[in-house]
Amino acid sequence: MTASAERRSQPATVADKLPGEEGCASRAQLELHLARLRRVGRQLFEGADCVVMFRDDCCEYPFADARKSTAEAFCGSLPHPEGGLAVPDLRQDAILRDHPAVSGEPHIRFYAAHPLRNHEGMLIGSVSLVDYTPRTFGEDRRLLLADMAGLVERELQLQSMNAVHAALQKKNKSLRRRSLIDPLLKIWNRGAIMRILGIEADRCDKQGVPLSLIVIDLDYFKKINDTYGHPAGDTVLVNVAGRLRSCMRPQDALGRYGGEEFLAVLPGSCHETALAVAERMRQVVAAQPEEINGVALQLSISAGVASTVQFPAASTDELISHADSALYAAKDAGRNCVVRAMPELA
Ligand code: GH3
Ligand code: MG
Ligand code: MG
Repeated sequence: MTASAERRSQPATVADKLPGEEGCASRAQLELHLARLRRVGRQLFEGADCVVMFRDDCCEYPFADARKSTAEAFCGSLPHPEGGLAVPDLRQDAILRDHPAVSGEPHIRFYAAHPLRNHEGMLIGSVSLVDYTPRTFGEDRRLLLADMAGLVERELQLQSMNAVHAALQKKNKSLRRRSLIDPLLKIWNRGAIMRILGIEADRCDKQGVPLSLIVIDLDYFKKINDTYGHPAGDTVLVNVAGRLRSCMRPQDALGRYGGEEFLAVLPGSCHETALAVAERMRQVVAAQPEEINGVALQLSISAGVASTVQFPAASTDELISHADSALYAAKDAGRNCVVRAMPELA
């Protein structure tokens, strides 16, 4: 079969996208692996230039840039073959003998190529051999070149699988994160803060350090919704969450426990520290009114604090229940205050 008979191009398809396109890291890896295969190819074929090229409509292959070698430039100027082909002496080929790289510098004499296909059997590129003296190319050589192409195809499949795996892992991480975060307040949701509480309680227990909780509730919040509307109420909640968070250390966790109720977990903090944090939260919320739609809204919170210092044998649920009782005591005391849970009151 002559080169001219073999030369046909395929229509572009989106499905032909190469794995290297998925990201810079995998593309760089692909480039590395292909460079290795080319080196092996050069050894196998006694110094012939081994070139791996992809169809332009498949991807912007990293080799197809300014660094293009003479052999790459030559192969890049030819269509990818549909089947294996070998031209022992290009001067004898009816069409290729007029190619400027054959008739002139660098006087390429030998060309062989084997197509590369994706897993759907679509033509995506080729592995080629180029030499500057004529060569004989028997059946054993043809099979060897086909094997080389098989190795490149396998490498592409591997890269493709790696890219899919990495994309799935990324998606998984983002889904997991979304399942733990309250979409409005962007703090931990109830499930997440309860899990954090369980983990931190175990850790503090093992380390012999205290753990404290603060349950926080906005005072007369329903009135804000009723007077200014639910969206205004949402904005207030978002801003209050920010104010509460600003009073906490990075290792503390803040979650939405209920509608306008928050749970703060303070690992390693004793009741005095937790009380001080809760008091700071109260002051920060009361210090400045929230301006919503040009209206200044004076806000306040009530908070209940419970600590393992006072309740060393309490489960996490019991500790929350103690903090909750303290919160109700704060509401009963007139709101805008902090109450600490004490065993004698429990
Ligand atoms: P108290 O001082 O006793 O806590 O009074 P309150 O009005 O804050 O308490 P109540 O439990 O009666 O009202 C809580 C309100 O919070 C009722 C509910 O509509 C509102 N709420 C809960 N979640 C959201 C939310 O995501 N957005 C808005 N805008 N309102 C919410
Ligand atoms: Mg409330
Ligand atoms: Mg409430």
